[in-house]
Amino acid sequence: MKTLIPLIKPYIPPKNILMPAIEEILYSGYIAEGKEVYEFEDMFKAYIGNKYCLAVHSGTDALHLALKLAGVKPDDEVISTPLTAEPTNTTIAMMGAKVIWADIDINNGLIDPDSVVKLITSKTKAIVVVHYAGMVCDMNRLNKISKDYNIPIIEDSAHAMGAKYKGKYIGTNSPYTIFSLQAIKQMTTIDGGFLCVKNEEDYTNGRLMRWFGLDKTKSRLDNDIKTVGYKYAMNNVNATVGKIQMHFLDKVLDKYISNGKYYDKELCGIKGIELVKYSDDTEPSYWLYTMKVERRDSFIKMLESNGVIASPLHHRNDTHSIFADSKRLLPNMDKFYNSFVHIPCGWWVNETDRKFIVDCIKSGW
Ligand SMILES: *Cc1c(COP(=O)(O)O)cnc(C)c1O
Repeated sequence: MKTLIPLIKPYIPPKNILMPAIEEILYSGYIAEGKEVYEFEDMFKAYIGNKYCLAVHSGTDALHLALKLAGVKPDDEVISTPLTAEPTNTTIAMMGAKVIWADIDINNGLIDPDSVVKLITSKTKAIVVVHYAGMVCDMNRLNKISKDYNIPIIEDSAHAMGAKYKGKYIGTNSPYTIFSLQAIKQMTTIDGGFLCVKNEEDYTNGRLMRWFGLDKTKSRLDNDIKTVGYKYAMNNVNATVGKIQMHFLDKVLDKYISNGKYYDKELCGIKGIELVKYSDDTEPSYWLYTMKVERRDSFIKMLESNGVIASPLHHRNDTHSIFADSKRLLPNMDKFYNSFVHIPCGWWVNETDRKFIVDCIKSGW
C-alpha cells in the first residue's frame, strides 16, 4: 500500500521553535487573554491590511459576533449559501433568524448574486457569503447589491486565508469578515478565529462583546456592562501558536497556491473533468482544489486505490432538519452536489505527489 496523501493536514511549526515558546507561556502565569493575544492581533492586522481585527476563540464565535454587530434579530432573514461548513448557518439559527438559501453558481459552487437579489425582502438584515474552498465569491456584483439595498455583507473566509479581491487580501472589503484558525484550516492556532470589521464603532463593540461586555482597558470596578457579551476571547496559549504560525504563513500559503495553479494548468481539457471558473478580480488561495467530475464514485475509488484521498467533504446545509422551514428549490446546488470533488492541494503535497495525482487522473477512472 502506498502512503496516503490526505485531503487535509494541519501545518504545525517546527518543534524546536514551537515547544520552547509554548512552555514559556504555559508557566508564565499569564495564560488568558493578554500581551500575546494583542501581539498576534497586531501581526495579523499588518498582514491583512486592516487595523480593525479582533482575535477570538473560534471562527464560529466570529460569525456570531458579526451577525450581532450587523443587527440581526430574531425573525429577521439572512441570505446565505448551502455549500459550506455548518457553522456558517448554525450561527444564523443561534440568532433566532431565518436562513434564506440562495442558489449557487453552477460554474464554481459559490453563492449566485442573481439568486441573492431575488430573495431580498424588507426583513433581510445581512447577506452571508462563503469563499468556499478558497475561491472568492463574485464580490464585484455582491458589493453592488449590498450598496443598492443597503444590506451588509458578512464574508465567511474560513477557507480563504490569503485569497485576494482586487489585489488585496480578503478581510478588508466588507463590513464584516471572519477567519477560522481551527485545526484543519490553512493557518491553525489549534482553535481560534478572527473578526475583521471596517470601522471603529464595530471594533469597539466587538471587543466588548468578546469578553462579557466588560472593557478590558478599564479596571473591573470602573466597568459597567451596557450590552450582554460572550466569552469569546482568544487566550495567550493559542496566540503564542499564532504568532509563530505568522512567520510560516506565506510559505505555507504559497504551497497551496502553487499546487492549485499547477492543477488549473495540468487538468485542463481532460475528458470527464470540468474545472471551476474563478470570479473576476479575484485570486483563490486553494484550501481545497475543487472541480466537477463525471462518475464521481469511480473517480474517488480510483484515486483511493492509488493512495490519494479525494472527497466532496461538505454536506449541503439546507438538508439538515433544523433548516426544514427554509427549504426551497435550488437546482444548481442539486447539480453541483452530485459532481463536485476536492483533491489534495495543501502544503504537504510536493511536486512528485501532484504530478502523480495528475498522472492517475490522466490514466482514467
Ligand atoms: C471552519 C469553518 C467555520 C468555523 O470555524 P471554527 O473556527 O471551527 O469555529 C465557519 N465557516 C466555515 C466555512 C468553516 O469551514
